[in-house]
Amino acid sequence: MTRNARKKSRMKYKTLKGLQDILPSEIAVWHHIESKARDIFRNYGYKEIRLPILESTDVFIRSIGETSDIVEKEMYTFQDKGGRSVTLRPEGTASFVRAYVEHHLYNDPAPQKFYYMGPMFRYERPQAFRYRQFYQIGAEAMGVDDPKLDAEIIAMLSKILGSIGLAGLNFEVTSIGCKKCRPDYRTALKTFLGSKLDKFCGDCQRRYDANPLRILDCKVPACIESRKGSPPVLDYLCGECKDHFESLRGNLELLKVPHTVNPNLVRGLDYYTKTAFEVSSENLGSQSAVAAGGRYDSMVDEFGGPPTPGIGFAMGMERIIPLIKDSVSGAAGPDLFFCPLGAAAADKAFLLTEQLRTEGRWVEMNHEGTSVRSQMRKANRIGARNVIVIGEEELRNNKIVLKNMLSKEEISAALEAKELLNLISSRK
Ligand code: ATP
Ligand code: MG
Repeated sequence: MTRNARKKSRMKYKTLKGLQDILPSEIAVWHHIESKARDIFRNYGYKEIRLPILESTDVFIRSIGETSDIVEKEMYTFQDKGGRSVTLRPEGTASFVRAYVEHHLYNDPAPQKFYYMGPMFRYERPQAFRYRQFYQIGAEAMGVDDPKLDAEIIAMLSKILGSIGLAGLNFEVTSIGCKKCRPDYRTALKTFLGSKLDKFCGDCQRRYDANPLRILDCKVPACIESRKGSPPVLDYLCGECKDHFESLRGNLELLKVPHTVNPNLVRGLDYYTKTAFEVSSENLGSQSAVAAGGRYDSMVDEFGGPPTPGIGFAMGMERIIPLIKDSVSGAAGPDLFFCPLGAAAADKAFLLTEQLRTEGRWVEMNHEGTSVRSQMRKANRIGARNVIVIGEEELRNNKIVLKNMLSKEEISAALEAKELLNLISSRK
């Protein structure tokens, strides 16, 4: 049996639908994004928070909303062995607010600023750029209602996306009002939709009474068509929300963050108030949103904390990676690769490998007694920068030849850690 055939016949398991492995050959771009984001979060005073992946189901139902697509259709909910209903988090903000209230983080000087990175789970129909486990990097700023903070977080998002190499993005902003002005808007929307409710899908017909705003987010083509011309929420803002939105726009202009106002922007989560925003790319087809967020000024209160405003965003790693992956180079190969011939040479190579690693170099050795030719081929495949063959003669004379795999230059040296360290450190 060939090696490949043997491997194939033993493969019993595959990743679940909509989930993917991230292989070492793909990881460089993930590290690139994460490290650029961390650098910028530091400049803006955002601190990392790590939250559980599993929460009580109620955490999401109460915040994201019973009639949202996420809660109605997309959650991975199950009973644990104690009979509690638990859910794999579909997004970060609800878990974050649960932690914010649980640990009284509102007692710290405002604004308190946080960021997180990690997997989210939604039982969606998998397609390009849409998965059932996907990764988000998100940020939350708490305790300040000043529209400057809204502008700052959008500016920070723009800086992060720019620094990781994304261009051609469209920043759309709007305001979706607050508890005070939403009832008026809801009434206007219901009046508009009521006369043609029969043209909407069954879900939307149910939403009409429970939560008519959700109809604006329905993806069914007939519903998209039928809701055209619905009253824009911006026309129904109360004085406070209007001023807040005007000020947000002024502050975005002050910081020179290009953006457009999209009065039809709706978010899939119920907890938003006032500012909502979305960033999209023309290069992603229909799954074009790379990041989205907004203000949520009632959630802390609803979770049992003191009334505290908040604003946040989340960006989707799997939507960003395809846009930049060709411009991020992968990890280089080892600094040095030993090709030992025989057991005594292997012992020597083994010891030197360990010593050079202790000195901070990436060193590998060959472990199978194969020919020099096949060992050199392996050195090439793993991208080794330098190679040393150790045979009987090299051991006897304590002398080797260090070969640079790029320039093909060869240098004689003593078979000794210090000298090798100097050589592999100084040569490119
Ligand atoms: P969409 O309209 O594409 O379903 P959404 O409004 O449900 O997005 P949010 O809840 O705002 O998405 O999540 C923020 C970001 O997370 C999105 O802009 C997107 O980049 C990413 N994202 C959301 N769902 C998925 C998914 N199933 N697979 C990959 N990325 C996702
Ligand atoms: Mg969605």
